[in-house]
Amino acid sequence: MRLSRFFIPILKENPKEAEIVSHRLMLRAGMIRQQSQGIYSWLPLGKKVLDKVNNIIREEQNRAGAIELSMPTLQSAELWQESGRYDAYGKEMLRIKDRQDRPMLYGPTNEEMITDIFRSSVKSYKDLPLNLYHIQLKFRDEIRPRFGTMRSREFMMKDAYSFDLTREGAEHSYNKMFTAYLRTFDRLGLRAIPMRADTGPIGGNLSHEFIILADTGESEVFCHKDFVNFDIPAENTDFDSVDGLKGIFDKWTSLYAATSEMHDEAAFNAIPEGERLSARGIEVGHIFYFGTKYSEPMGAKVQGPDGKEHFVHMGSYGIGPTRLVPAIIEASHDENGIIWPESVAPFDVVVINMKAGDEACDGTCELIYAALTKAGKDVLYDDTDDRAGTKFATADLIGVPYQIIAGPRAVANGEVEVKDRKTGARETMTIEAAINRFVA
Ligand code: ATP
Ligand code: MG
Repeated sequence: MRLSRFFIPILKENPKEAEIVSHRLMLRAGMIRQQSQGIYSWLPLGKKVLDKVNNIIREEQNRAGAIELSMPTLQSAELWQESGRYDAYGKEMLRIKDRQDRPMLYGPTNEEMITDIFRSSVKSYKDLPLNLYHIQLKFRDEIRPRFGTMRSREFMMKDAYSFDLTREGAEHSYNKMFTAYLRTFDRLGLRAIPMRADTGPIGGNLSHEFIILADTGESEVFCHKDFVNFDIPAENTDFDSVDGLKGIFDKWTSLYAATSEMHDEAAFNAIPEGERLSARGIEVGHIFYFGTKYSEPMGAKVQGPDGKEHFVHMGSYGIGPTRLVPAIIEASHDENGIIWPESVAPFDVVVINMKAGDEACDGTCELIYAALTKAGKDVLYDDTDDRAGTKFATADLIGVPYQIIAGPRAVANGEVEVKDRKTGARETMTIEAAINRFVA
């Protein structure tokens, strides 16, 4: 992509409305634009990052055996009246009427709709276990939308829903998602800690929130500091192995970790003094086993091996991609801007032409741009005639992991500079070596 033909509305000044660094940097880097309170457009640079985040989520959901579909954002109120949540949900639900005066709503979540899909076609235990997910916009009329897309009214969620014949089966489905989440956050360059979470009115059930430690986080957390040393489950983890996944779950949950609602002072104090961590964090995922809470009122049942009908045991599993993008920035930035982990960077490398219009500089940059693009790299080529200082500032701000800098003096020697955005290290090398560094 040539920067001269791309669309990145960079802001030179710090936007007044941004209270936290990720919001400030997303606005300055031209990633998002607020359209009305808590409702955002994702501009091209932001969209590229969001797509990469979604693809990692998708790959790990698929690896764990979940199956993707797509449900609509608008739902009929009827389904929610069946489950009893239409009245219970309160003001966070955006209620709409269509031209026939039928009550509709912009979905804040999809338990009812997926239960309806399930009951309409699954009749036998032989079709279980089943886990269906989608990545779709949600709407919650949050009382205090803030921090940009961290807490917005319209936001994206990956929500998966599992169906099992028995509680034991549902626990295995839960452990699959638990394991997939550990892998997902790790691939996004984040260390998310699974915290025991409030299960609400249905006691005895399982729930974990995945929380990233950050001073700007809205959740208060208490945990053992060893979480950072734990191994992440490998790519070849056998998701069908009930004991294997239970082993992973037990190992991770053997250390104390809880949000303030679930905090157990005595258990926390049992941790040796120097190993306790109380901090703030950002909730990026939430998984839940809720048994037959929806299947009973909505009549989602299957015939079991005993020939009888059983209400299915369900779980739901959310991740917030539009919250994850700012969470990644909170975890990875410096005073000059964003530092993207390679897995979600909007571009792999930026080629900076220090003297656009100069024949040697133009020729060198075009050569590198073509060679890397041909090798499948996603390259941003700064071919504008901005000042060098502006180009460096832009490249640092938007956080592309590597910069290839072509200035007249180096180019005259057949050389360019390669800068690592994270460490700041710069290395001069031949043009060929620079290309090979990214192609090899
Ligand atoms: P919170 O406690 O932050 O309000 P929640 O418990 O209401 O979140 P869930 O219903 O568990 O959220 O939703 C699953 C995921 O969706 C959350 O872990 C979060 O990543 C994301 N999410 C929820 N609400 C928002 C929001 N207003 N803006 C952005 N992402 C959100
Ligand atoms: Mg939650």
